[in-house]
Amino acid sequence: MSPATQTRVALLGAPSDAHSSFLRGAALAPPRIRAALHSGSSNWSTELGADLATSAGWSDQGDLELSYPTDPFDRIERTIAGFLDGGTRVLTLGGDHAITYPILRAYGPRFPGLTILHIDAHPDLYHEFDGDRFSHACPFARIMEAGLAHRLVQVGIRTLIPHTRQQAERFGVEIFEMRHIETFHARELGGPLYISLDLDGLDPAFAPGVSHHEPGGLTTRQVLDFLQQVTGPVVGADIVEYNPLRDPLEITAMLAARLAKELIGRMLEP
Ligand code: MN
Ligand code: MN
Repeated sequence: MSPATQTRVALLGAPSDAHSSFLRGAALAPPRIRAALHSGSSNWSTELGADLATSAGWSDQGDLELSYPTDPFDRIERTIAGFLDGGTRVLTLGGDHAITYPILRAYGPRFPGLTILHIDAHPDLYHEFDGDRFSHACPFARIMEAGLAHRLVQVGIRTLIPHTRQQAERFGVEIFEMRHIETFHARELGGPLYISLDLDGLDPAFAPGVSHHEPGGLTTRQVLDFLQQVTGPVVGADIVEYNPLRDPLEITAMLAARLAKELIGRMLEP
């Protein structure tokens, strides 16, 4: 492919909710977010002025086949690694948050000095949850144990318990709890930057279509501002935990689509 037509950003679905602790449904998310992206009710603009309808720099690479007997983590890691080795950044649509660990197994070794901006109601730092070390409550413990990120910055958190506070201390995680959100300044986050966006980081008023409703969260405007303010480069991202079974009006699907467009726009920047 010539540089002009090369895909610099790939959109990829990872429809897995095998490690969800409370409700299934996140595996149904990628096609529903895609449908919202293509909805005639909106267009392909980003707020910063890019028109993704005419940009040749990104492409939709469809969904990963993750059903048994494939090891989904291995499939996710190898696929993402293949894109990265070809010079393509990846925006992954979950799936539950467990997928971020295999994604980072691909990113970590290829981006020394990587910073992760993790937006979530939950720190996802449990050593294990319900006997599952790979639960969606654990990915950032696995990522930090394996040294896959230089910095982990968590924003919007409002569910800490003594165990996860200890884990955060152990791994040197920088946590901006929701109750201190005014102390977080996205402008100070430079790259290479990976953004992991759990939709339950937003308040359930803005994102009802998630498995875990935690009141007191971020507004849509705050999250959009963060995505626009980070310095970058944004080398990768995921949008996880959308649960279409709890989204009858498709409000959260449209939210996920908006966030996907803004992220693709940032990832198309140098
Ligand atoms: Mn999460
Ligand atoms: Mn969460």
